[in-house]
Amino acid sequence: MSDDTNKNLRILIVDDVSINIQVIANILKKDGYQMSYAQSGKAALVKSNFQDFDLILLDVMMPEMNGFEVCIQLKQELKTKDIPVIFLTAKSDTESIVRGFEAGGADYVTKPFNGVELLARVKTRLDLKRSQEALKSAYQKLKATNEKLLKSQEKLEMVARTDTLTKLSNRFDIIEKMENEKIRFERSQKPFSFILCDIDNFKLFNDQYGHDCGDFVLVSLAERIRSRVRKQDGVSRWGGEEFLLLLPETDLEGGRILAESLRETVSSNCYEYDEHKLEITMTFGVSSFSQIENIEQCIKMADSALYKGKSLGKNCVVLSGTD
Ligand SMILES: [Mg+2]
Repeated sequence: MSDDTNKNLRILIVDDVSINIQVIANILKKDGYQMSYAQSGKAALVKSNFQDFDLILLDVMMPEMNGFEVCIQLKQELKTKDIPVIFLTAKSDTESIVRGFEAGGADYVTKPFNGVELLARVKTRLDLKRSQEALKSAYQKLKATNEKLLKSQEKLEMVARTDTLTKLSNRFDIIEKMENEKIRFERSQKPFSFILCDIDNFKLFNDQYGHDCGDFVLVSLAERIRSRVRKQDGVSRWGGEEFLLLLPETDLEGGRILAESLRETVSSNCYEYDEHKLEITMTFGVSSFSQIENIEQCIKMADSALYKGKSLGKNCVVLSGTD
């Protein structure tokens, strides 16, 4: 009958009469459990707080504190609330049995009891506790895995929407934001605008100081622009050295004001790469969305304005529709 795995299972036997403890211990010994004893409710509470038990066999009639009171206290403590309690008692009236279950007992065995039956009941409770613990740990593992998965999914999603070099939105992300803005526009009729801007003579930085310098310029400007726009504005790397900004609830004039302030801050800033002072300017095209165009057309309008700005000598802001 003795089971090797039972060696690790600890049972606390609580009874105010030592001969009763002995009788119970003799029965449990057959299944190889580890046992501890307590002869009062208080002693049981103290022991169970300092040691780990897998099960408690609890007498009901004891002086000072009866078994029901002990059980209620065990069920209130975080450390002991999950330990199954089996009442072992001569009180066999229905009222007592009900009280035992109400106090949080897992089972109720009346004296005199049959040894085989007691062992079977103990085993059932311990098996159940083990399954519950296994289930709990499996659940926690699953939860942890799930959280990890969610995090990597978020990361993946972010990577899929971000330009690796500048950490700005990429084309895919900004297009989705534009589509959302269009939906909002259809509801609210509040205008929104685009700024398409391009670094002037970008090729020269690459040609003169290498591609790392080009990357430096891109990152510096991305940071500068990002720090100057509102939280709700979308800033993306649209192409090689082109950035596209989406400005919600902004009309053409609002777009012009922002573009002008960006142009100013970009051109007035000092940039130093590898001890070389760089002079950087950008050209800006601004367009505003209205019902007659779709998003693609609106971007094209900003692009034409930008192109016009380039032909006008760069480092300037041009509004679409101002021919
Ligand atoms: Mg007693």
